[in-house]
Amino acid sequence: MKPKIWLSSPHMSGNEEPYIKEAFETNWIAPLGPNVNGFENDLQTFLNEDRQVAALASGTSALHLSLIMLGVSHGDEVICQSKTFSASANPIVYQGATPIFVDSEWDTWNICPEQLEIAIKDRIAKGKKPKAIIAVHLYGMPYKVNEINKVAEAYNIPIIEDSAESLGSRYNGQNCGTFGDLAILSFNGNKIITTSGGGALVTKTKAQKEKAVFLATQARDDAPHYQHSHIGYNYRMSNIIAGIGRGQMTILQSHVNKRRSNHQLYQDSFKNIAKISFLNEPKGYYSNRWLSCILLDSKDTRESLRLALEKENIESRPLWKPMHQQPIFSNAPSYLNGVSDELFERGLCLPSGSNLTDTELDRVVSAINMYFAV
Ligand SMILES: *Cc1c(COP(=O)(O)O)cnc(C)c1O
Repeated sequence: MKPKIWLSSPHMSGNEEPYIKEAFETNWIAPLGPNVNGFENDLQTFLNEDRQVAALASGTSALHLSLIMLGVSHGDEVICQSKTFSASANPIVYQGATPIFVDSEWDTWNICPEQLEIAIKDRIAKGKKPKAIIAVHLYGMPYKVNEINKVAEAYNIPIIEDSAESLGSRYNGQNCGTFGDLAILSFNGNKIITTSGGGALVTKTKAQKEKAVFLATQARDDAPHYQHSHIGYNYRMSNIIAGIGRGQMTILQSHVNKRRSNHQLYQDSFKNIAKISFLNEPKGYYSNRWLSCILLDSKDTRESLRLALEKENIESRPLWKPMHQQPIFSNAPSYLNGVSDELFERGLCLPSGSNLTDTELDRVVSAINMYFAV
């Protein structure tokens, strides 16, 4: 058996270990310390736009805190892009609120502005104005920021920007992670940079960051004893893994460049295969191409290609199964136009890591060419 080629695996730079070593040498083995502050500063500097960053245990915990900070509670409704990973939607349920799923559009595969407005109007007509909108830059492609902001502003609903897959992506020159009222990042093992597991909340003000850190560190009031007037969470990032993050920040742009070049290679290699198409960047959009995705002509082609790759020990995966199709969310109200269902049927994610070698990429390209040659 040839060695396994993964979809997206961790890629260390060698700059991580000195930070971890320093944490050991100085005994900062805690969910606070110089690496946590340093990593937050690195992220703030990278994101720019005067944003504040709170490093947290995961992207999921950042989403949960976002909802709490926006006052989402039992019985509320929150709009969420249907085509996404379940972690975008689960925290809505943690709060006892109801997710309202909205379909995608073809230009970016993300939340559709028209469907969003239809959903908001209908929810208001039914008696509840949604408390927040969770919009996602899927696979690194920015959502239609201007169009989505316009709808959100018209109804005065805050946006939580799920930027878990889009660190390093830009929209009209501005970094993803700086568009929402609140934004979240993820450093899980498969993301463009990783701390093994981790995430961050991006806020517009220092007061919001302080509130997030307060909630993330068990909501201790200012007193010599343990005093609590809020429910707290244990969601802060450890100083050890923040050291991995500091090392990873030194190579973020080179990871973006490599993932973009993987995508370009696939696009060039398959340009004569009529059954394969790609998602192009609309003007002003810059995707980190976290995952390289292709669309096939049918569900059958997609599945048989996936199995053909599996035989070659090459991992590939259908695009995210929309939340409105997930058994756990089958009762959630959904506003659909068929786009995310079709993307799920015809789409396939190919190996996309920044650590893929030329030999590995050759194997993927040959396997796909072979599949279409017969
Ligand atoms: C990975 C991911 C998350 C969750 O981040 P974790 O750090 O794994 O908790 C949320 N939303 C999207 C779109 C993701 O891809």
